[in-house]
Amino acid sequence: MTDYLFAPPKVNTVAVVGETALFPVHRIFCVGRNYAAHAAEMGNEVDREAPFYFTKTPSAVLASGQVLPYPPGTSDFHYEMELAIAIGAEAFRVPVADAMAAVYGYGCALDMTRRDLQKKGKDRRRPWDLGKDVEGSAVMAPLTRASDFAVDGRRIHLSVNGETRQDATLDDMVWSVPEIVADLSKFYHLRPGDIILTGTPAGVGPVVAGDRLDGGITGLSPLSLTIGPTQ
Ligand code: MN
Repeated sequence: MTDYLFAPPKVNTVAVVGETALFPVHRIFCVGRNYAAHAAEMGNEVDREAPFYFTKTPSAVLASGQVLPYPPGTSDFHYEMELAIAIGAEAFRVPVADAMAAVYGYGCALDMTRRDLQKKGKDRRRPWDLGKDVEGSAVMAPLTRASDFAVDGRRIHLSVNGETRQDATLDDMVWSVPEIVADLSKFYHLRPGDIILTGTPAGVGPVVAGDRLDGGITGLSPLSLTIGPTQ
């Protein structure tokens, strides 16, 4: 039996609709600028050559329905409502036509972002980690198996305190699910447990302590999050 110097990190998991078994998270990849209207509101253009990515630490996973304390180091903490892809099979250098075989399922997710620190990173040509890899910032609703969901035309939306802030359809994504999986598999040996957040539509904005966020994608389990006071 292996001895550890201290208790090893816990396995981070996401619930699955209709399953008692949990989806264990391996890595979290995130696609940047995958909706033209959001890229425009941030003052950017979509790169039509290829998607680009950043990552979050797997321990950033937070189950839907929880309270997330307003994080340290920011005064501009933003929501980004996104479709999450859950990978359920190995994929390395897979063509677009075969990419869907690696998809286990889908879920509603939030990519919570310290926008001021992300902007600072962009302005100074530094990495985005402080802006994006925020503790508790990968909020995940229960996953739905791929066989029970079709991406086509589904509405993606988010409200803050009952007021709609983001409202688009998944058809607005610049890069489709199979295109993202195939492209990412050029760089990584994707394996079961990997999660990909596919980018956010227009309408991102700040939250404050006490705000209640409700997100949905038609056909998937809805998501909620409450922002708590600064710790
Ligand atoms: Mn995002």
